Amino acid sequence: MADFNRSADTHLIKVVLPKLPDIPLYLKDESTHPSGSLKHRLARSLFLYGLCNGRIGPETPIIEVSSGSTAVSEAYFAKLLGLQFIAVVPVGTAPQKLHQIRFFGGTIEEAEFSQVHQRAHALAAELNGHYMDQFIYAERATDWRGNNNIADSLFCQLAKEEHPVPDWVVMSAGTGGTSATLGRYVRYRPELLEKTQICVVDPENSVFYDSYVTRDTELKIEGSSRIEGIGRPRVEKSFLPEVIDRMINVPDAASIATIHWLEAVLDRKCGGSTGTNVYGALTLMAEMQAAGRKGSVATLICDGGERYLGSYYDPAWIEAEGLDLAPHLDRLEAFTGIGLRHDG
Ligand SMILES: *Cc1c(COP(=O)(O)O)cnc(C)c1O
Repeated sequence: MADFNRSADTHLIKVVLPKLPDIPLYLKDESTHPSGSLKHRLARSLFLYGLCNGRIGPETPIIEVSSGSTAVSEAYFAKLLGLQFIAVVPVGTAPQKLHQIRFFGGTIEEAEFSQVHQRAHALAAELNGHYMDQFIYAERATDWRGNNNIADSLFCQLAKEEHPVPDWVVMSAGTGGTSATLGRYVRYRPELLEKTQICVVDPENSVFYDSYVTRDTELKIEGSSRIEGIGRPRVEKSFLPEVIDRMINVPDAASIATIHWLEAVLDRKCGGSTGTNVYGALTLMAEMQAAGRKGSVATLICDGGERYLGSYYDPAWIEAEGLDLAPHLDRLEAFTGIGLRHDG
């Protein structure tokens, strides 16, 4: 696709923390895609999959269930292709997200949280449209062997580093598609499989961790994750536990403390799931250091923080949610040697 040809690869940022000089952390920055998040890759893959499978024609309306980044990225590609795009969003979705979907020409259908999938199927039938269904198709729409997928790109960018094969790649799961691509790619390349393990980090209010431990795919909970983009109330089809080597639960207060801490490291704001990722990476780096091991750990910046100024970066929101960041910030500073940035 021409969009792919116009796109540059995303940067891999190297972070060396004062107290961890022998264990560099690499951040693959997926926030710089034209539609603002790692979902740019997924949207491109889902469109290609739909087109090449004959399910998307020149007049096919595209329908998706998403309250966030996926709808924004799919609206972007629908606009490129001149296709109508409808996002089915749960009632109460943040106005900022709706604005971005509309900015790329998408329209919005609101439905109750429990009704969104039914509504999407009904719309697709009514309009003779195509329901993209990211939670089912994320894992199979991406070419996991290569084709510059996120794993291919990450490992190629690490090639000239002191530790070119990382000990861990850490990722959170929303659809589970990205961790599936990373896990399959490592298993496909024997030189990686020897050393690299995939760790998936899970926030509160998500069934992925318990399902990983028990292999129960029917688990369900009420409510939804505070960390946008990750953590699900049911086990999604694109979540593939067989290619994951380990999972870690990360408290939401720790995820949010980590993006505040990260602002002092990178001089920029990141989304909440990046905090979950980096907290997980630091946990593994602590284990490596305690064991006297050198090596590298890689994870992703999934999106930027500008989308969350009214939540993760708003002290009133943090307090209303009952989250106490202070103990996590203290531990981050003691462990890494970097404290919160104080402006002014
Ligand atoms: C979707 C998403 C994730 C998780 O990626 P998956 O490939 O769907 O598991 C993480 N962070 C953000 C911001 C996302 O939108």
